[in-house]
Amino acid sequence: MEEILRGTGVVPGIAIGRVKVLSEDLAPRLAAYSAGTPEAESGKIAAAIKAASTELAQLIAAAKASGRTSQAAIIEAHHAMVNDPGLAANMHDKAGQGIAAPKAALAATEEFAALFDTMPDAYLRERAADVRDIGRRLARLLAGGAQIEDEDPEPVVICAQELAPSAAAGMSEKVCGIVLGQGSTTSHAVIIAKARGIPAVTGLGGAIDRLLPGTMVIVDGSTGQVILQPAAARLAEYRSQVETEAARKRQDGEMAALAAVTLGGRKLQLAANIGSPTDMAAALMQGAEGVGLFRSEFLFLGRDNPPGEEEQFAASKAVAAQCGKHLCIVRTMDAGGDKPLQYLHIAKEENPFLGWRAIRISLEQPDLFITQLKAILRAGVFGNVAIMLPMIISVAEITAAKACLEQAAAQLIDEGKPFAAKVPLGIMIETPAAAVTARELAAECDFFSIGTNDLVQYTLAVDRGNPAVSPLYSHFHPAVLRLIDGIVKAGHERGIWVGMCGEMAGDPLAAPLLAAMGLDELSMSAPAIPRVKAVIRKLHDREIEELLPKALSLQNAGDIRALMERFITANS
Ligand code: PEP
Ligand code: MG
Repeated sequence: MEEILRGTGVVPGIAIGRVKVLSEDLAPRLAAYSAGTPEAESGKIAAAIKAASTELAQLIAAAKASGRTSQAAIIEAHHAMVNDPGLAANMHDKAGQGIAAPKAALAATEEFAALFDTMPDAYLRERAADVRDIGRRLARLLAGGAQIEDEDPEPVVICAQELAPSAAAGMSEKVCGIVLGQGSTTSHAVIIAKARGIPAVTGLGGAIDRLLPGTMVIVDGSTGQVILQPAAARLAEYRSQVETEAARKRQDGEMAALAAVTLGGRKLQLAANIGSPTDMAAALMQGAEGVGLFRSEFLFLGRDNPPGEEEQFAASKAVAAQCGKHLCIVRTMDAGGDKPLQYLHIAKEENPFLGWRAIRISLEQPDLFITQLKAILRAGVFGNVAIMLPMIISVAEITAAKACLEQAAAQLIDEGKPFAAKVPLGIMIETPAAAVTARELAAECDFFSIGTNDLVQYTLAVDRGNPAVSPLYSHFHPAVLRLIDGIVKAGHERGIWVGMCGEMAGDPLAAPLLAAMGLDELSMSAPAIPRVKAVIRKLHDREIEELLPKALSLQNAGDIRALMERFITANS
């Protein structure tokens, strides 16, 4: 009998396959394990660390060879963790106290993971899963257990309460879908699924147990539906959707090397959003024309001290060099909000998104800011670098940032370090204040990039991370669209280019409106590039010019979205 379960769709697309339940039940193996002397157990721990390190190095090489750089980066982090001397010392201590080696590995990693569990930042909390994953890998090697990187004979849908990052990184080509009891959009398993385009649904909770091994299942990553034992008619309907989607992806993929230009010759620059230099290979493969948003704050997260000038210089230089002739826009640190940094000692805030974040921190911590600016200016020698300021609300902030930029250049001259003298300075338009005063701000900078993720939350007073209000969060809300239209006009009137780097830039449904408004650049996560490019290349300029006023005259986000769905269906 057909049964429909509902979760949260986190990676769109449809998967049809048989359920493969991943439960790594180590308990029987641990019970059967017979421990030797403390010295012998300590020796086994050292050998297991070595074996795990070799296993992970092989996974890194395989991920890199197949161009899966974001997966390689995640496994590299595991490789570093497994070789952490502090973690090893804790395991050896436990073995010295007479604890069997597999249990010592699990207990030591659990202590480490518990520290991550208590962190206020959601991204860092998710890292606890990575540490536990290391513990299970070591325990499996010590107590003997099944390999997780098995080949599957037919398409499978991985079902688990939680998916360990290394299990996700080691998924075979046969994995066509993922269903999890837990997980969020920032969990590594989901990041990997997104990068590989594997449809995924999370948040099924206890209902995950209804997915029995071998059962046929449809996963709809767009709606969050999981259909167990689908009826024949439904299966046929979904199979045809899968075929249509696959044909469209093939067509889109062929466009990577082509320009994003409408039929009337309107050209948009499609760039990538990245968090680290390791994201560049995937971005270039998808046809990114440079980087529209390098979220530099990722260099600052998960550590005890801020990165120094040399480390930041190396990261920006690596990205700039890979961008070639295209622009590489480095956003200065956007910490605070949902990305607190322990070493900045940000006091507990009632409303962190309205508090001490981004440019506000940089201007109050000039040493930190000038160090970052020096690193970016130096990277400018190796490519076409630009600096972008986050969370701007006033001209005064741009003026103050320019003064810091002058100090950074003066210090570099004193130190005799080469740097690019003319680096464009742009700002993010992600607050209603910036949107409304865009004309004045445009006079003070070289470009705008619209950050819709924050602009939507601040304009609609809807927290971007709160599932309770997520139905109200939409970039198609008329207030948001009117602000964007005004920002583009203000920028162009002042002769500067206007881009967008919020999630809206990667939404194919929004592309016709953004092209009609005259956006010059769209920056998005790399896998979104081919689809958006394909949509833009089919646009008739006259049609989108007529569509825009029609969309702007509607009163509800839902109606505007429906209009865009009809438009895209009619034009694809
Ligand atoms: C945005 O707000 O749209 C943006 C791109 O910045 P972030 O998502 O990093 O806040
Ligand atoms: Mg933002």
